[in-house]
Amino acid sequence: TRRKLVAGNWKMNGSHAALSELDAIAEAAAAHTSIDVAVAVPATLIAPAATRVPALSIGAEDVHAADHGAHTGCVSAAMVKEAGARFSIVGHSERRADQGERDADVKAKAEALHRHGLNAIVCVGETLDEREAGRAEAVVTAQIAGSLPDGAAAEWCAIAYEPVWAIGTGRTPTAADVAAMQGAIRAKLRAMIGEEADRLRILYGGSVTPDNARELLHVADVDGALVGGASLTAAKFVPIIAAAN
Ligand code: 13P
Repeated sequence: TRRKLVAGNWKMNGSHAALSELDAIAEAAAAHTSIDVAVAVPATLIAPAATRVPALSIGAEDVHAADHGAHTGCVSAAMVKEAGARFSIVGHSERRADQGERDADVKAKAEALHRHGLNAIVCVGETLDEREAGRAEAVVTAQIAGSLPDGAAAEWCAIAYEPVWAIGTGRTPTAADVAAMQGAIRAKLRAMIGEEADRLRILYGGSVTPDNARELLHVADVDGALVGGASLTAAKFVPIIAAAN
């Protein structure tokens, strides 16, 4: 059986002062020994966060696919690892939209993470237009086909299904829609990597809150959550960790 993973994504939020929120999050993570907990923070906060709560898995929100070079403004997997990151999110829909990242970029980033011994959370998800056109499963399975790193294994790779229209909107798919998509992703993974597909975790993300976490985290094939806004405070994130039990 797959251990659930509850991961936070602070996006472009937070500050040194906000790192105090991590104290209670780390405590909750330590208390819930059957759940994995992780928090992705802005690059500038990785080192202070990892220093403050050494037992908690701190990660990056993105990395460059190359190890070093002429890429002004970017950071590599080796760099975030040195700062104390244990994982990174890759292919978040905000980066696919804002930075034009394509599936091949996402795949290369995930492979860079693995080269450096870091874990990857690979994000996929359809837009509202795509869902309304009945293309959600086709879009997401195509993203999986293009974004899944070579040699993907449960030890270091997880998938996050985040419908774009559910991110930061307070709207969530029905439990049935989530179950259908998680199943479609699992089937695609099986076609690609065989039995390992049953060990990979598939998280749900998009407007997860303390109120809906218990339902969403117990949908068939949902192996955890990727949480944006509600991960910024312990008051909201700790109940979501508890709901994963
Ligand atoms: P919200 O939880 O704020 O909707 O964000 C979800 C998300 O994009 C996490 O990566």
